[in-house]
Amino acid sequence: MLIVGRDRAAVEQLLAARALQCPHCRGELRPWGSARPRPVRELGTETVCTPRRSRCASCEKTHVLLPDTMLLRRRDALVVIGAALLAKATGEGSRLIGRRLGVHPDTVRGWLRRFALRAEGWRAHCWAWAHALDASLGPIAPAGSVFADAVSAIGLAVGAATRRFGPRPGWGWVAVISAGGLLANTSTLSIAP
Ligand SMILES: [Zn+2]
Repeated sequence: MLIVGRDRAAVEQLLAARALQCPHCRGELRPWGSARPRPVRELGTETVCTPRRSRCASCEKTHVLLPDTMLLRRRDALVVIGAALLAKATGEGSRLIGRRLGVHPDTVRGWLRRFALRAEGWRAHCWAWAHALDASLGPIAPAGSVFADAVSAIGLAVGAATRRFGPRPGWGWVAVISAGGLLANTSTLSIAP
């Protein structure tokens, strides 16, 4: 799996130009059909996304090209999940968050619990990214909880990536930095800057 931009035509151009690299061996990725369609919910609307698939010309592994609007195995758009994490970091409860975002509170609770389990890991991971991209960053200011510290570190990493490489709309940089695994069971923390 590789995180790509949300513009399908641009992804096709990158594939045609052999400009996408295999995340395992950095070989050239070639077009290889499509992944299965998946629903994406965002603020009351549901669309269907059919990510492109690719195959490495060197190691022959296939990789889904996941748009940076989504997380692995999550039906809700990353901007919605991100808004919930931000709201929790400022002390909002899951019921209110759910009502505001049009998501069942149990779903919100699931996201928050999942993120909280690995919050310390994400804090360290995002801080490493932030620092690798901008060595001038000073120490991180405590935000009041491990959860809020992790969300704050995400913000620092996104800021550093934006300064270095330019903006990605929405939470696009978070998809890249977490390799789509912000709420995954298994660790994607090995994805180094
Ligand atoms: Zn490869």
